[in-house]
Amino acid sequence: MYIDGQWTDAESGATFEVFNPANGALIDTVPDGDARDARRAIEAAARVFPEWSTRTAHQRSGFLYRAYECMMARKSDLASRMTEEQGKPLRAALAEVQYGADFLLWFAEEAKRVYGETIPASRPDQRFLVLHQPIGVVGAITPWNYPVSMVTRKVAPALAAGCTIVLKPAEATPLCAIDVFRVLEEAGLPPGVANLVTARNPEPVGREMLDHPDLHKLTFTGSTEVGKLLARDCADRLKRVSLELGGHAPFVVFDDADPLHAAKGAVLVKFLNTGQACICPNRIFVQRSIYRAFVEAFTDRANKLVAGSGFDEGVRIGPLVDRSALAKVERQVADALEKGASLLCGGRRLTENELDQGWFYAPTVLADVTPDMLIYREETFGPVAPLIPFETESEVLKMANDTRYGLASYVYTRDLARAMRMMEGLRFGIVGINDINPTAASAPFGGMKESGLGREGGREGIREYLETKLVGMSI
Ligand code: ADP
Repeated sequence: MYIDGQWTDAESGATFEVFNPANGALIDTVPDGDARDARRAIEAAARVFPEWSTRTAHQRSGFLYRAYECMMARKSDLASRMTEEQGKPLRAALAEVQYGADFLLWFAEEAKRVYGETIPASRPDQRFLVLHQPIGVVGAITPWNYPVSMVTRKVAPALAAGCTIVLKPAEATPLCAIDVFRVLEEAGLPPGVANLVTARNPEPVGREMLDHPDLHKLTFTGSTEVGKLLARDCADRLKRVSLELGGHAPFVVFDDADPLHAAKGAVLVKFLNTGQACICPNRIFVQRSIYRAFVEAFTDRANKLVAGSGFDEGVRIGPLVDRSALAKVERQVADALEKGASLLCGGRRLTENELDQGWFYAPTVLADVTPDMLIYREETFGPVAPLIPFETESEVLKMANDTRYGLASYVYTRDLARAMRMMEGLRFGIVGINDINPTAASAPFGGMKESGLGREGGREGIREYLETKLVGMSI
């Protein structure tokens, strides 16, 4: 753990083990923190807050620039660590480290753009000023699926705004977070400004964040279930909260699109990180007249994806994170088949060539999925693609919006007017039009409905860490 500028053990002395999900091998052990460690970290962050928040924006920006440079210099080490700890193919891990570094660079720039306002007052002897000031100490809880970029997406804007932070990374991927903190340390992080508490059981650390009066904001990325739990507790104390939660992305392919091009895009984003991304399509709607052509092209491509160790050349499918992730995928596939879906490829755990040492599941395509199936409603977080035919634009818009989630959505069409209608009608925070990667550090990322509250990245990202203060002045 990294608390108040020191690498430290848990106060209890406890540790926990971190395993490689591709082969079950032990990688390392890390401190198993609890409420006492979280308290120590929050108190360090609170102590240094007055000093950090009154540094100039240019000074905070300078630190983030250095952190960006340090992360770029360590890019390949960080990526290897990620492949070992999280399982994604090395090429994808390199792309993620770049994405992670992009947040450091972006918020180094945004730090200098926290503008205030003057507002014309109605009295001649009055002036109004609006200031944006850092919220204070931030608690951040991050997931395992993007173990570097989800850390910098929170730490960079918090520090840019002038906040100090305590981070609890996911129990499956503490080593990536430790490496990010090494980067911050190397860049000259002042003691206490960012602190890392690793823990096997997240609950006591989360509780301390919620209970501690000096922590004013919680930012969380993870499941909708845990997000709601934390938001409820934040409500009791009226702590500020940002949530980036689950998704159930629709991917809509109209018959004016090239089915082969659309299938290529759909495979890339569906099987991204083995389906373990909150922006992965969970319902692929294809207009009836090109359904057959799309299904064939999609299945053909999905069939060719190679599963294995992310360090092996050509591997595109890494392991699932753990046994329960595998069980969830198996349950959804069994349910869909029972209710009449057709299995076009995959549909089983992979165990050959030592894949049984990890949690591998074959890229799977289910055709003719219907709304009564679990997979139509529940987030899968695995390599299973449900395909659904549709007839008309108005029908598919209704079906696409028929979910409690509202994070990402995708539309393939060459008809500009249709693209505009869909873009406006989809109740999702992100819409990709003929675009499977509508994300960047410079763009706001976040969901509507049960996919969350607030936005990360973009101009919006730093606002999540700022309070608005009105100053009225009589002159
Ligand atoms: P996932 O399904 O992605 O594992 P979770 O919501 O379980 O999603 O986990 C995301 C993050 O939330 C992880 O860092 C995890 O440790 C943390 N977490 C899970 N449960 C709690 C809790 N009760 N309090 C605080 N943090 C939690």
